[in-house]
Amino acid sequence: MASSTSIKSRHVAVIGAGAAGLVAARELRREGHSVVVFERQKQVGGTWIYTDHVESDQLSVDPTRIVVHSSVYDSLRTNLPRECMGFRDFPFAIRSGESRDQRRFPSHGEVLAYLQDFGKEFGIEELIRFETTVVRGSPAAKIDGGEGIGKWRIESTEKEKKIHCDEIYDAVVVCNGHYIEPRLAEIPAITIVFHNLSKISGDDISRDIAGFAKEVHVASWSNPADTYIKQTGHPNLWMHSMIERVLENGSVVFQNGKTVLAHVIMHSTGYKYDFSFLDTNGSVTVDDNRVGPLYKHIFPPPLAPSLSFVGYHVIPFPMFELQSKWIAGVLSGRIMLPSKEDMLMEIKNLYATLEGEGIPKRYTHSLGINHFEYNDWLASQIWVLRNRGVEERDVFDEFHEEDGESGDV
Ligand code: FAD
Repeated sequence: MASSTSIKSRHVAVIGAGAAGLVAARELRREGHSVVVFERQKQVGGTWIYTDHVESDQLSVDPTRIVVHSSVYDSLRTNLPRECMGFRDFPFAIRSGESRDQRRFPSHGEVLAYLQDFGKEFGIEELIRFETTVVRGSPAAKIDGGEGIGKWRIESTEKEKKIHCDEIYDAVVVCNGHYIEPRLAEIPAITIVFHNLSKISGDDISRDIAGFAKEVHVASWSNPADTYIKQTGHPNLWMHSMIERVLENGSVVFQNGKTVLAHVIMHSTGYKYDFSFLDTNGSVTVDDNRVGPLYKHIFPPPLAPSLSFVGYHVIPFPMFELQSKWIAGVLSGRIMLPSKEDMLMEIKNLYATLEGEGIPKRYTHSLGINHFEYNDWLASQIWVLRNRGVEERDVFDEFHEEDGESGDV
């Protein structure tokens, strides 16, 4: 730990005012940094801002399309219980009021309301430049008097008045979300095709659609090749192994040998990380959805600590908070990072372990059950006790065992 006299206050740009950006801004300011949050939408909440607009290109591949940031759909309820979705000192508690959803797995609107409440409670909105898009972030010359942290040039455009800003910051925290650029399965198809969401949302939606469609057939790479199972509770919903090919007449052939004539194919194949506005001179790359190299999924060693990323999750909100506290402490000099060489070595070892276990690069940031150890490690760095009455791990285990009130995960 550094002595109190060596604590530094930095000028920090946070990109995005979703859950990650909001809590990052709070933690940075608590640590004594000055913070500007850039948000291209009109309000806080990111992916939880529901709209019934859909993109004109249903596969979301046309770069000139008008992007609809939210992938939330009308009937969506959370797939985590609300106890797992609160920040430490601002739990996602049941609020009174007619418009509030008091269910344990509330609707998307309740999550948005919670994030808006959080923004107000901690005065985050005053730090945000709404309708302002960061169009480019690039390392600026080191003019820091040898304090060991590189500067960043942030170029942004405000939508209404078309004001273009070009500013220098001590550090950038990237909280831009990752539900915009779709990852698509390579399926030659002549049927109607569109991209929806992640596998989890795909599972949710398939159950919703089963209430209206004649038949729903779900293919998943995680199912063994001979899988052909009728989903309990849904007489018209079938689980299959992967799709082998799609015939010219629209018939889908699964690895299990079954063939189905499909009218619509929906890709629930997730999204690609996209940091195209960041120019890091190749220091950070995205390779098969592995963002790297990132020490502890946050700091790219060549540019640490002035560049950091908040995101990647199983139980997102508590993790965002721990990541943000760590970043804030590292930037002030209160918490020390290992040497760049040691950080790179750890990342190299992680990659080797994943490769040894046959885990594709795109799952590098899918921490799965290791999520809890990761959070514990972050907590040990920032000197907080993770147990706040309700431990996320207990709740997570509980709802996995009982298959959840929403039946989602
Ligand atoms: P986002 O919410 O996407 O916010 C990113 C923000 O950055 C946006 O507001 C965007 O406008 C802004 N931005 C991006 N680029 C720029 C730029 N260049 N300049 C300025 N601003 C920019 N999590 C749960 O905990 N429970 C759930 O039940 C759950 N269900 C989900 C269901 C769906 C369908 C989806 C898509 C996600 C779900 N999640 C759930 C995960 C969810 O993504 C996280 O909870 C969390 O909201 C992500 O927050 P974020 O801040 O990382 O990203």
